[in-house]
Amino acid sequence: MDFDTELADTWVRALAAAVEKEQGRLTELDSAIGDGDHGSNLQRGFAAAVTALDGLEADGPGAVLTKTGTTLISKVGGASGPLYGKAFRAIGAALPGPAGPAALAEALSAGLDAVRALGKAEPGDKTIVDAWTPAVAAFRAAAASGATLPEAAAAAAGAAEQGARDTVPLQARKGRASYLGERSIGHQDPGATSTALLFRTLATVTAP
Ligand code: ADP
Ligand code: MG
Repeated sequence: MDFDTELADTWVRALAAAVEKEQGRLTELDSAIGDGDHGSNLQRGFAAAVTALDGLEADGPGAVLTKTGTTLISKVGGASGPLYGKAFRAIGAALPGPAGPAALAEALSAGLDAVRALGKAEPGDKTIVDAWTPAVAAFRAAAASGATLPEAAAAAAGAAEQGARDTVPLQARKGRASYLGERSIGHQDPGATSTALLFRTLATVTAP
């Protein structure tokens, strides 16, 4: 199985549905250490992405993901819109045609590079990067050892979820939560949580 145009489309649509379902939880997490809009930001952004995909004649998985990224940048005002938008655009740019596990690992890694280039967050700063970094490492390691796409995606999803849980004891050093200083400790980061959702959804749509 390759990650092709149809699978890219299925992933974004499933992600829109997952974000819709988890919107309340994401908002709750962002209410604790931010301004409570992370769920609605992503819900609005991914719903718009689905609408944009409805009218798109995509000639590869990259076209689907680039369109998704562009839409997120234009529709989401918060920090997460440009960060996820740039990430999807970078993943898209790396996927001109159908990709196997190793090529998808590199594309997801390019997505992480884009997040880091824009947001300047390091691992441990309590951000999206804390879920995305272990997810890429797990995806890449699985692909290198001959895993199938669903196996690699499942490994990445588990690593992203662990990475999100591991943000609880961290003090935020980037984004709105950093204004809270030590009071950001003891809460799971909303962005790391939505990144875990992104990788879990990839695992779900690739599962046989
Ligand atoms: P805002 O903070 O503008 O309200 P959101 O609530 O949509 O935007 O997103 C908040 C999330 O964005 C945080 O939980 C964090 O994971 C992520 N984030 C914020 N700043 C950065 C950054 N510089 N690098 C990576 N992720 C960041
Ligand atoms: Mg917010």
